[in-house]
Amino acid sequence: MIRLPKIECFTTSGGVKIYRIPCEVFPGFVAFAHLLFGAGPLTLVDVGSGYGHSDEHLLAGLETVRDKFGEKFQVADIQRIIITHGHIDHFGGLRGIAQHMPDAVIGIHSLDRRVLSHYEQRVIVATKSLRFYMQRAGVNPDDQAELLMWYGFSKKHVHNFDVGFTMADGDEIDGMRFIHTPGHCPGQVCIGIDEVLLTADHILPLTTPHQAPERITSYTGLGHYFESLDKVARIPGYELGLGGHEGPMRDIYGRIVDIRRSHEKKLDQVMAIVNESDGPTIQQITDKMYPRVEGFHVLLALEEVGAHVEYLYQHGDLVVCNVEEIEREDNPALRFIIA
Ligand SMILES: [Zn+2]
Ligand SMILES: [Zn+2]
Repeated sequence: MIRLPKIECFTTSGGVKIYRIPCEVFPGFVAFAHLLFGAGPLTLVDVGSGYGHSDEHLLAGLETVRDKFGEKFQVADIQRIIITHGHIDHFGGLRGIAQHMPDAVIGIHSLDRRVLSHYEQRVIVATKSLRFYMQRAGVNPDDQAELLMWYGFSKKHVHNFDVGFTMADGDEIDGMRFIHTPGHCPGQVCIGIDEVLLTADHILPLTTPHQAPERITSYTGLGHYFESLDKVARIPGYELGLGGHEGPMRDIYGRIVDIRRSHEKKLDQVMAIVNESDGPTIQQITDKMYPRVEGFHVLLALEEVGAHVEYLYQHGDLVVCNVEEIEREDNPALRFIIA
């Protein structure tokens, strides 16, 4: 087990107390849940993955808030659970956690609602889309099977949950301002509370949040992500960012500039690789950009590169060069050249 970071408490200018509770959601990988006092009924934002020690960490963290920080509450007093987006490291703990909060109503953005309400069919449909995508990306059949295995590995222990309410862009609920920021995930929301922004996985202080092609899931993709970065950049006054992973951010706006730059660099890298190759597939571009990845990271790399290739294709910087094959075959790999 890793050593978790300490629980921290931030109080906003309007008096909302935000407790930041770490959980090890996958081996060596930490995510934060946030417990809010003063934003309407007692509210928990995200619940960890439900994998390994995640539930245990979250429940122990809630007890620490009571016992060490002196907040007078019981876990069963939590009335509302908000899920920032439909990724397993943020909602997978619902099964083990929500049973301790019998009165809690669950909320999520409507574009991720079915991830909670119809999880099993959603995984089946998404897995099929991923298979088509891998064929199109030129992944060889043996590797396809392995990548699908990785895709499915963390998704077995989750069930369906009743969604009590959905949030839409611009909603204000009990002092929480919801900003819909699709890209990393279709229903990704950031939550503004006074001068604090819970950025979930939209903006992280160290990591450039993972991107996948819209071809696999609508409302993801780099185009949506850039628009969502711009959207947050246009809202002034956030002085502290608390993401779903890693430490607090004092300069959200500067971080947005850096993240954008990192993607622009990757777009340039893709263009350079295509320029020096002979009509490469997404797989071949990925092999050059990420030659040393293993396991689950192979899939992440393929999606990340796929998102960048898709963006360049959408904007007419890249075109396909095997049109006859595409016309003739069922779902062949696309090969790209500079337009
Ligand atoms: Zn995520
Ligand atoms: Zn995450």
